[in-house]
Amino acid sequence: MKVLVINAGSSSLKYQLIDMDGEVLLAKGLCERIGIDGHLKHTPLVGGKPVFNEDVPMPTHSEAIAAVIDKLTSEEYGVVSSMKEIDAVGHRVVHGGEKFASSVLITDDVMEAIHECIPFAPLHNPANITGINACKAVMGNDVPMVAVFDTAFHQTMPPKAYMYAVPYNYYKKDGVRRYGFHGTSHRYVSSRCAELMGKPIEELKIISCHMGNGSSICAVDGGKSVDTSMGFTPLVGLPMGTRAGDLDAGVIQYLMHKDGIGVDEMLNILNKKSGVLGVSGVSSDFRDLDMAAADGNDRAQLALDMFAYWVAKVAGSYVAAMNGVDAIVFTAGVGENSKSMRSAISEYFKYLGVEIDEEANSKRGEDICISTPDSKVKVFVIPTNEELVIARDTKAIAG
Ligand code: ADP
Repeated sequence: MKVLVINAGSSSLKYQLIDMDGEVLLAKGLCERIGIDGHLKHTPLVGGKPVFNEDVPMPTHSEAIAAVIDKLTSEEYGVVSSMKEIDAVGHRVVHGGEKFASSVLITDDVMEAIHECIPFAPLHNPANITGINACKAVMGNDVPMVAVFDTAFHQTMPPKAYMYAVPYNYYKKDGVRRYGFHGTSHRYVSSRCAELMGKPIEELKIISCHMGNGSSICAVDGGKSVDTSMGFTPLVGLPMGTRAGDLDAGVIQYLMHKDGIGVDEMLNILNKKSGVLGVSGVSSDFRDLDMAAADGNDRAQLALDMFAYWVAKVAGSYVAAMNGVDAIVFTAGVGENSKSMRSAISEYFKYLGVEIDEEANSKRGEDICISTPDSKVKVFVIPTNEELVIARDTKAIAG
């Protein structure tokens, strides 16, 4: 069975074609500047075909999907002989609200429910819907499509973890609560962690640290998310590349009044100009911060120190929430690549009996245990693979 995985943004669209017999990645690619002009980078990974990397007109997502299908099936760049070989499509959908606790086959009712969640994710869900509709337009209604939600994994959180201490009616009437994001990633790395430990996930308490441009931490108790650091939106929790993370709401009122800033501009500052970029004034990219800090830039060092401190602080609160922890997992861009950040965070876990094997911590690109055999809590680096989870769910539902 071959599954096409689609992750549609407002002006971009990432895809992978995976042969589920053996879970072989056949091709991957990225459409950019959809609605502006259009560019496609298509990378075939089998058959020794060349990479296609050129401008392609993409007034809408439909032309983008058509270009993807064209390349996937073409003589020169293709990995399948025709569209008929694509058995199902799995779509990443950011927000499923309280309606979806797992992945689902996309029906008209499901589309309506995804629409209803637009107010919770005004930037993401419309793009996801556009991606689904574009696929239907190009591929027809006979190819089954599955929605995999970023929020679904966190639907197991208990009310004491997901409720905000505001008037209850805001939850009842308006759905104001913690939803959490990166669920597909936390689900993947926690189950992979259990596999690597050779234990049933039901018996394990795992803290999953997804640290990329956007970052979140998740407490996974017995395979279920019981708390996570992102909230009603992906703005809160840790300081991120450009997002502020947790912040006293009083600061917002103070700055808006003092500087005469409107709510949209304020939110733009908190989403795009804050985080490690805002603190350092250097970059949102941790590689740039490492270099600047090594050159003696104090604010770059402060941003790195704050990030490590926040990861440790939130993870520590999850040790309390779960009454213990068996393993800590690092994943995503920073988690998978930054040895220095992993070391800095792990320093805070000495009270748990964590000991890092620095040689293992220097390795890259593989699932690896980076704690010593004596370490009381195991620490892993596990490259995340959200596309594979989407493809597996799609196979399970549509196969
Ligand atoms: P996204 O949240 O956009 O999916 P990623 O998980 O791809 O982000 O993470 C991207 C981030 O990973 C980059 O902004 C950069 O800060 C960080 N990163 C990538 N490689 C390294 C590295 N070698 N050292 C430190 N940070 C890195």
